[in-house]
Formats: sequence, C-alpha cells, structure tokens
Amino acid sequence: MKRAMIDPAKCNNCSHCLVAEKCPTKAVIREEATDKPWIDFYHCRGCMKCKEFCEHQSIIEETKPCDGGFSPGW
Ligand code: SF4
Ligand code: SF4
Repeated sequence: MKRAMIDPAKCNNCSHCLVAEKCPTKAVIREEATDKPWIDFYHCRGCMKCKEFCEHQSIIEETKPCDGGFSPGW
C-alpha cells in the first residue's frame, strides 16, 4: 500500500499549503493555522498527486505490504 507523508524537516509551513488545498480526499490536517500540516493515513489513498502540489519537495512516498486492512492506519 502506498501512502504519502510530509517530511517535517523539508516542510516550509507555507501559510497557503497547496497540498492541503488540492488533496482530493482532504487528508491533510493542520491542528492550528500556525502548525505544520500532516497527512492522515486513514484518508490518504496514495494517489501521490501531492508530490506535484508541494513546491518544497516535502512529500515522501511510503510503501507497506497490504495486511488485509486489519492494522489501524494502514
Ligand atoms: S506546500 Fe509543502 S512545504 Fe508548504 S506547507 Fe504544504 S506540505 Fe509544507
Ligand atoms: S497521496 Fe493523494 S490522497 Fe494522499 S495526501 Fe497526497 S494527494 Fe492526498
């Protein structure tokens, strides 16, 4: 299974995060307006379109083997 993660070391904490705006499943979460965004694995479908949206190349592709859907978050 493929999922996207935001690398906090590379994330520029843009005031207008295009990843949050354009993610088709609205999987990007920002607890507070000043917090760096993160991706909710439950809502991310692994389309990896966010790689194109983030101009700071902060999107990481994570791949894990399918476990039949029994592990929370994966
Ligand atoms: S666009 Fe990229 S660098 Fe900017 S806040 Fe979003 S994830 Fe972070
Ligand atoms: S991989 Fe797709 S669904 Fe997941 S955060 Fe990126 S744009 Fe959204």
